This record gives sequence, structure tokens and C-alpha cells, in this order.
Amino acid sequence: MEQYAVEVKELRKYFPIHAGLLHRTVGHVKAVDGVSFGVKKGETLGIVGESGCGKSTTGRMIMRFLQPTSGDILIDGKHVDEVTRSEAGEFRKKIQMVFQDPYASLNPKRSVGQTVAEPLIVNRIMPRADAMERAAKLLETVGLKSQDMHKYPHEFSGGQRQRIGIARALALNPRLIVADEAVSALDVSIQSQILNLLMELKNQYHLSYLFISHNLAVVRHISDRVGVMYLGHLVEIGPKHSVYSNPLHPYTEALLSAALEPRRQSRRQRIVLQGDVPNPANPPSGCPFHTRCPKAMKVCRMDSPEIQEVSAEHLVACHLYA
Ligand code: SF4
Repeated sequence: MEQYAVEVKELRKYFPIHAGLLHRTVGHVKAVDGVSFGVKKGETLGIVGESGCGKSTTGRMIMRFLQPTSGDILIDGKHVDEVTRSEAGEFRKKIQMVFQDPYASLNPKRSVGQTVAEPLIVNRIMPRADAMERAAKLLETVGLKSQDMHKYPHEFSGGQRQRIGIARALALNPRLIVADEAVSALDVSIQSQILNLLMELKNQYHLSYLFISHNLAVVRHISDRVGVMYLGHLVEIGPKHSVYSNPLHPYTEALLSAALEPRRQSRRQRIVLQGDVPNPANPPSGCPFHTRCPKAMKVCRMDSPEIQEVSAEHLVACHLYA
């Protein structure tokens, strides 16, 4: 049986930069530059990194909202480009997305029941009346009332709207949910409620999650494994406890040291990174992190490190471990 719900191999997305009257391509923004990982069935893989590191672009390519420049995406072991027209509908149902801004992703003119039932009706899974009945049940599953289905998005709080977004994502019985900054717009107290709901639903529906966030605490709460991205590259990936207690990559170390609770900062020195993230249209040679790395060596400026396993399932792309 295929181990991964989704697997990406050497995934790249280069956005062309156009200039001049003739709109010529004068360069490329390398948003994602050769990323490989898999989300195992039943696991939550968290992807962290600063804004612009390529984590959302990766999620959007998996959702097929963006066409990759190169690389492979496999869903349940099958290459997305090899899906036949007749399989395409089934294939699309397997992956759903929960968005950052629940309000913007809900149509204000549609009742909540219509919104949740819509994927079932559009995909001709069941007649409208049955779809509305299922929508009512899904609303209860995510902690709302079935009577809420007659209300409109503006009548709900941010946390409730995110619950509606989750109910809609569940409607088609997906295998994988891509959650992109799914709790970032919510108050901290509401964030933990939504995270706990996602964790309960994962067990109940045997889901896998690709959970994309800039927030290390949120990712630690929900993930089984964690991947760290920097400037379009996956620089470290491993089991959550291994990455958080023993970060290998200097960038992960710096991220964690900045996010540490004050009581732990006395035991571990805080690392303040110098300089800004380089322009992805003109990335540095060698290791993409060498311009800011406190441990950079001569080789780092010339050779890009391969990602390699250092301990069980814990991989890092850094010359320190060569
Ligand atoms: Fe730092 Fe070199 Fe490792 Fe890159 S390869 S993270 S520059 S030590």
C-alpha cells in the first residue's frame, strides 16, 4: 500500500519577471526551488518558514492552483499528470484546502448550508436535498448547530467561519487537507479550539494534513513531523520532537531561539540573524542561507548542500553534517 497521501519530488516554481515595452522575460523569482517531501497517510506534516519562503506556493501547487515549473506531484502514489479525464473528478476530491481568511473564502450571498453543500451538488455526488442534509450534519461535526445552515457568513465570528470552511473541506470526504495559515487570522484562544478540532477530525476521518504556518508554536501543537523552508528550499525535516529539541540546521536553530518562551531562553542562547532574506529573483550561490548563517564556511558560498538523513527520519541540508 502506498505510504504517502501526497509526495512531491524536486518541485520547482519559477515566476517570470517581465520588463520593457515588449514585456520580455528578464529573470525569474525562484519561489520554490527543488523541494521534495511526502505526507504520510494519517500524519500531519507542518511546514514552517518566514513569509516568502515558498511554503504557500508549494501548497498551491499541490492543490493544482498553480502549475509547477518542474517536478513531480504524486497523490496516493499516482502522478497527477497521468490522471485520465475520467479519473480527474475523483482525484480532485481527495485533496481539499482550508484557507487563511475564512471570511474571504466564503460567499457572503450564500447561506452556510448552501456553501457546505455546494461541492456535493457541483460534483453531482448527491441530489440537492440530500446534500443539504449532509451539510447540516457536517456543521454539527465541526461544532456548529444544524440550524446555522440558514444563516449567512457575516452572522458568525472568525472562529465559527473557520469551522464552516472546515465543514466545506470535509464535504467531499478528502484524504488530505492542505491548511495554509488556517488559524493565523484568529485570536489565540480560538486558535487552540480550531487546532484541537482539526486533530479530532483527523482521527475521526483518517485524514492527513499538510499544515503550513509561520507560527512555530502552532506547528508544534498540531504536527507529527515538521519541515522548515528557507528561500524556496526545504532545509530540514524530521519528527516534531527531534526538530524542536535538537534542531540541526542553523536557520531552524535561529527560528526556534527567537520563538522560545522566556523561561527557556536562559538555557539556550538567543540567535539573532543578521541581514534580510535575499531576493528570490537573485538567490545566493551555494547554500541559500550562507549570507546570514553564523556558522558559514568557505564551501557554503560555492556548493549547495544536499539534504541528507542525520538521525532516524531527521534530514538536513547543511555542510556541517557532510
Ligand atoms: Fe550555514 Fe553552511 Fe550549513 Fe548553509 S551549509 S546552513 S551556510 S553552515
